[in-house]
Amino acid sequence: MLIVKKFGGSSVADAERINNVADRCIEDYSKGNKVVVVLSAMGKTTDALLNRAQTIHPNPPRRELDMLLATGEQTSVALMAMAMARKGVPAISLNAWQVAMHTTSNYGNARFKRIDSERILNELDSGRIVIVTGFQGVNRRDDLTTLGRGGSDTTAVALAAALRADACEIYTDVEGIYTADPRIVPHAKKMKEITYDEMLELATLGAKVLHNRSVELAKKYGVTLVVRSSLNRQEGTIVKEETDVESMLVSGVAVDKNAARIAVLGVKNEPGIAFRIFDLLARHNINVDVILQSIGRDDTKDISFTVDKSQAREAVEALRENQKRLTISEVKEEENIAKLSVVGAGMQTHAGVAAKMFEALYDVGVNIRMIATSEIRITVLIGLEDVDMAMRAVHDKFIDA
Ligand code: ASP
Ligand code: MG
Repeated sequence: MLIVKKFGGSSVADAERINNVADRCIEDYSKGNKVVVVLSAMGKTTDALLNRAQTIHPNPPRRELDMLLATGEQTSVALMAMAMARKGVPAISLNAWQVAMHTTSNYGNARFKRIDSERILNELDSGRIVIVTGFQGVNRRDDLTTLGRGGSDTTAVALAAALRADACEIYTDVEGIYTADPRIVPHAKKMKEITYDEMLELATLGAKVLHNRSVELAKKYGVTLVVRSSLNRQEGTIVKEETDVESMLVSGVAVDKNAARIAVLGVKNEPGIAFRIFDLLARHNINVDVILQSIGRDDTKDISFTVDKSQAREAVEALRENQKRLTISEVKEEENIAKLSVVGAGMQTHAGVAAKMFEALYDVGVNIRMIATSEIRITVLIGLEDVDMAMRAVHDKFIDA
């Protein structure tokens, strides 16, 4: 078997953990498997590098920032290869340039275009464990790029697809994907399996276990993922196209506390206004999520929507600058809100999920401000102060403790 194993920063945070990971990889290797290991930077290295850049330049050139960040992963792969060498196992570390993992040019948010598999396959054929830097790539100028925070998962999936691996295992410091964040809902349960689509909804909603592009890629290339702990031998969660647990109406509950609500009041009630507003935001690259339109006074309408907190200021400024042209009488912003979502493939075939969720919120006296749905998700916007309690209530309504 050809196995791709990816370990996150906490799994390689110090020498002891590096040795632990080395042992686990060697175990598979000793059984005759071909093993490719993808690593993140050690512990909080990437944060530390970002902070260090800040001490030099408040807004560093992005090319140089990627050059700096890429050193984090390079450190872990080199140390891992040394750990394996010390244990008498032939291993080699490779960075993105050496493999040739080609990405688009945009620094800090690059995407894979093509991966050359030749070097890795040759190294595997000569009996080595191959240890590859996660999170980085190389663009057509031969410069190093990075894939965005958490991007090492995506490296692992892209490699698994390119090498046609038999397994892609994502090791982390939790035991798998849970029905809710166990820090907020202590009796949340680990899922045995989850579909790509459910995982994508959860990943996008801020269940930070997997980078969402890694799930997109896995779906596209049919790479089955296993998410499990590097610290114990528990089974973990399998992410794949279809699960057998059809009866599960709701597979998970997620919160996003990084949302801000923007309300645009008193715009003219005529065709084209919504287009002009959202076109303006799109041109600023602002991602808009939950949208609600309501009737205002005197033949006007109000439109509210959510954006990520980090983009709220830019959105408000852009709207205010264009206030006249867009016929807006007032732009308001609110940050004390959160998004709470239930996700489940079973929703497509079952009615009543929304009612049940709203009942759970009613039971604990939480007011709903906005509602949005997709085929497999229902999202409500609620007050930030209510969100933990609301999450427990909704979780317990659908998933028995
Ligand atoms: N080291 C990078 C980060 O902290 C990539 C990763 O860990 O996946 O975001
Ligand atoms: Mg991660």
